Amino acid sequence: MDLEEAKRSLEERLSMLGVRVSRIESDLRNPGSRDWTDRASEKENEEVLEKLNASERVEIEQIRAALVRIRQGNYGECMQCGDPIAPKRLEVLPYTNTCIECAS
Ligand SMILES: [Zn+2]
Repeated sequence: MDLEEAKRSLEERLSMLGVRVSRIESDLRNPGSRDWTDRASEKENEEVLEKLNASERVEIEQIRAALVRIRQGNYGECMQCGDPIAPKRLEVLPYTNTCIECAS
């Protein structure tokens, strides 16, 4: 398996997700109403943001963790059983940290 290739596709995906998340964030932080600053509304706003970004945020975390594993040299190893993860699985889910058996 080509680690450089994996790293590149993870980093690409990470920057793409980062752009998307920050776009959603700036949309939400720009509600067009300046009076809308009491604490309750702010909190509501944060919750909306969190929900909207939940799946993106999870994926970002997973990608960051995968990049750490590349640096540590244990990328492509199942974190649960220690077996190598099938390259085909890594192609589809480059940030995965479990083999197909442990994931199912
Ligand atoms: Zn496993």
